Amino acid sequence: MRNAGCLEEELFSFLASKKDEDLGYLKVLSSMCTHPHPVAVRAHQMFIESNLGDPGLFAGSASLERLLIECVGSLFHHPEAGGYATAGGTESNIQALRIAKKMVSARSPNIVIPESAHFSFEKACDILSLEMRTVPCDPGFCMDVEQIEDYIDSNTVFLGGIAGSTEYGTVDPLTRLSEIAEDRDIFFHVDAAFGGFVLPFLESEIPFDFSLPGVSSISADPHKMGFSTIPVGCLLVRDEQMLRCLHVDTPYLTVKQAYTLNGTRSGGAVAGALAVLEYFGKEGMRAIMRGCMENTQRLIDGMATWGYPAPVRPEVNVATFSCPAVPEGWRVSRTRKGYMRIVCMPHVHRDVIEAFLHDIGEMHA
Ligand SMILES: *Cc1c(COP(=O)(O)O)cnc(C)c1O
Repeated sequence: MRNAGCLEEELFSFLASKKDEDLGYLKVLSSMCTHPHPVAVRAHQMFIESNLGDPGLFAGSASLERLLIECVGSLFHHPEAGGYATAGGTESNIQALRIAKKMVSARSPNIVIPESAHFSFEKACDILSLEMRTVPCDPGFCMDVEQIEDYIDSNTVFLGGIAGSTEYGTVDPLTRLSEIAEDRDIFFHVDAAFGGFVLPFLESEIPFDFSLPGVSSISADPHKMGFSTIPVGCLLVRDEQMLRCLHVDTPYLTVKQAYTLNGTRSGGAVAGALAVLEYFGKEGMRAIMRGCMENTQRLIDGMATWGYPAPVRPEVNVATFSCPAVPEGWRVSRTRKGYMRIVCMPHVHRDVIEAFLHDIGEMHA
């Protein structure tokens, strides 16, 4: 740290030079985040100093958080759902696992998730000393439920399924998993970190939420397809009481107990998340998701024309291809199996897709 401070202008020209080093999403096809909507930015700025970790001091912000959970709960067919705003899918998944682990006593608890699960589960299992059992996927990159009985036993405290997988945009056989969870009386979590703000707005109407009776909890991230500022995720639980098992005493705050993982939490991002949902309404969100899905389909068709087929038809706006090379200047990612992976986020407009397809074509020239 420097001894004497520096001039503000000098400082901001330094920051601007660093900002220029960021890629800024223009040719970024690999990200699950995007530009926050201007409405989210405005709302976030309005609540910039708000700390939800001490809700008694920020009663208005705290009521916005409740409104956000209520809004997402009703979107997920359960307006009475409990929940809170996390820092994202990782925190939501950790917290769901903590609840599941505390709800039953197992000698050496294990969890059962698909091999396609997000890497946050690996972190969570390490922290919580849970044995992570991953069920192989079928050729459609979804959990192969035929094999699940080989993995579940009396020490299984948590079953997880994905609604909109990070790598392939697929949805696990959640109806079947919900039945298994009910039969076996196992906590069942749906990781809809990405798909949670896509699937409710699509015509395909794939059941993934509390409409499935076995679903105990859901994670869904406004900072991915919800156009909010970073960081905000939502953890929803079927019964508000479920969160109580996470309570710790918080002696010097305005509330006496807390169940969140993080202490200090951004009220700004929560205001931003709610603001966007109110601003667009279901109709607005449907129109945006329709556009993202049309772009995904156009990309899949275009890539097929160039001889790069998609290994699977995605349910959300994530497309994958057997395509080893990448045209210059574009940022794509690779799945663990090596497929090219492109997320058709809202900043990936139709002209971006056409430009990418053009550059893919040029590679043949
Ligand atoms: C992105 C993602 C996560 C992790 O969310 P973060 O907000 O990055 O912590 C978890 N699960 C799925 C399916 C995801 O796509």
